[in-house]
Amino acid sequence: MGERGRVGVGVLAVVLVGAVAVLGARWLLAPGGGGPLRVLFHTEVLRRGLTDWVGGGTMPPPGVDAAETRIHPAVDPPPGADSYAFLQSDDGRPVTYSPCRRISVVVNPRGAPPGAVAVVTDTVRLIGRATGLALTVTGTTREPYRPDRQPYQPHRYGERWAPVLVAWAGPHRIPDFDHGTVGFGGSVALDPVVGDRSYVTGSVVLDREFFADPTHRGYMGEVLLHELGHVVGLDHVGAEDQVMWAGGLHGASLGDGDRAGLARLGRGPCTPDL
Ligand SMILES: [Zn+2]
Repeated sequence: MGERGRVGVGVLAVVLVGAVAVLGARWLLAPGGGGPLRVLFHTEVLRRGLTDWVGGGTMPPPGVDAAETRIHPAVDPPPGADSYAFLQSDDGRPVTYSPCRRISVVVNPRGAPPGAVAVVTDTVRLIGRATGLALTVTGTTREPYRPDRQPYQPHRYGERWAPVLVAWAGPHRIPDFDHGTVGFGGSVALDPVVGDRSYVTGSVVLDREFFADPTHRGYMGEVLLHELGHVVGLDHVGAEDQVMWAGGLHGASLGDGDRAGLARLGRGPCTPDL
């Protein structure tokens, strides 16, 4: 623990994972799109692993990849837009990533359809612009998605929080993928004893078999937007014209409510103790 012990950083970790689900491929092939979509809000997949981690995990030195001030300018939310919600709040303020830290995203292309890395790169750029967070795809990884993913993996990524992982998996690893879900996304938040709760890393996992079907690949950008929305802290909303709509896939791009929420998520505090 070293330095971290001295600054007294607690390790109350909370993982929230959202999911996009579709009710079978039949809808997706229906003329005109739209249709019966379902989004599950799923909190249990990573929670188990984090319980283990909190019990025995170590943490990186504080402040790695962090600057003194925010790296990119804050984004102004569209005026009047209110169709957004946050996965976690603390005293009425959303839990966020630190705008003073560079947040790497790595892609494990194993099982991904052709062109997937480019779609991830474009989508991460969109979320980065909409939040003002320093989110960047920095490369590929061989790390497979695991429900009990460790947020600190010094052997793989050095002495820093693990990057946000985007990976593909099948139903053997994610049983929900056999029941209409096509993606999960979420982040790990930590509470320092003094200071603000903050996300430190997250992951997105997409259904390898669903996206192996060429007729489904056009949905990948929307699913990634939705799941990366969860990663940076957005919850579902009831407004159908938003990417974070609770109903599922429906051909949406970022709406004003999504953008307002993302802008607020990029205006959180810097957390140098993490
Ligand atoms: Zn969701």
